[in-house]
Amino acid sequence: MDLSRIKLFVLDMDGTIHIGGKLFDFAKKFFRRVKETGKRYVFLTNNSSKGPKDYEEMLKEMGVEDPVVFTSGEATAGYIKEAFPGKRVYILGTDSLRRVFLQEGVNVVEDDPDVLVLGYDTQVTYEKIRKFAIFLRKGLPYIATHPDINCPSPEGLIPDAGSFIALFEKSTGRVPEKIIGKPNPEMLFEIAKKFGEKVENIAVIGDRLYTDMEMAKRAGALPILVLTGETSFEEAKKEKGIFIAKDLGEVAKLI
Ligand SMILES: [Mg+2]
Repeated sequence: MDLSRIKLFVLDMDGTIHIGGKLFDFAKKFFRRVKETGKRYVFLTNNSSKGPKDYEEMLKEMGVEDPVVFTSGEATAGYIKEAFPGKRVYILGTDSLRRVFLQEGVNVVEDDPDVLVLGYDTQVTYEKIRKFAIFLRKGLPYIATHPDINCPSPEGLIPDAGSFIALFEKSTGRVPEKIIGKPNPEMLFEIAKKFGEKVENIAVIGDRLYTDMEMAKRAGALPILVLTGETSFEEAKKEKGIFIAKDLGEVAKLI
């Protein structure tokens, strides 16, 4: 695996740098090596219910120095700015997600929107659901931040954005015209734009074939699977076009 052309490493978190909030020792080795060589890394999450700052705090507490996190919410705001410049945007999402859009300069409105965004709304109310369904029936453009059906929680899986997509499909017959988060390549295109790197100079490191590796492949970035999460070596070796590493420490040796 030749990593000489890679300038930016896009990292999944759970199963890649930590499990259950405990940072892997070799992850620190990896971060040090990337910095020594003048390259960069960024952490990626599909969860749009929190802002990047919340995740950066969490990573700092785990022992990661100067973490930079990119969420599907930021990617969606970037996409909306380009695809619907100046348009009025209604967001079914948390206050954090709304702040991300406002910081990007998006015209976020409560009434009379031109475009609809569905995020992972952990502050959802029936009034928000009612409003979103009415707007959907008007045929307005409909974008979702990410497709995850469930989100892991300490007590078990709980409904994520994908479950709300299903709810609105059942009610209105509509599905999003675009979903931005992993495994969709838009997520990576937005990172490339934000960091000023070409997609071919980006490697995606993660533990899941159907999200992390799939996104890298679709976008044209270098996919590197680590075996510290949910994929076994037997499953991984069946997949074509990806590089397999035992863990991040093994990747660090190749930089
Ligand atoms: Mg993972």
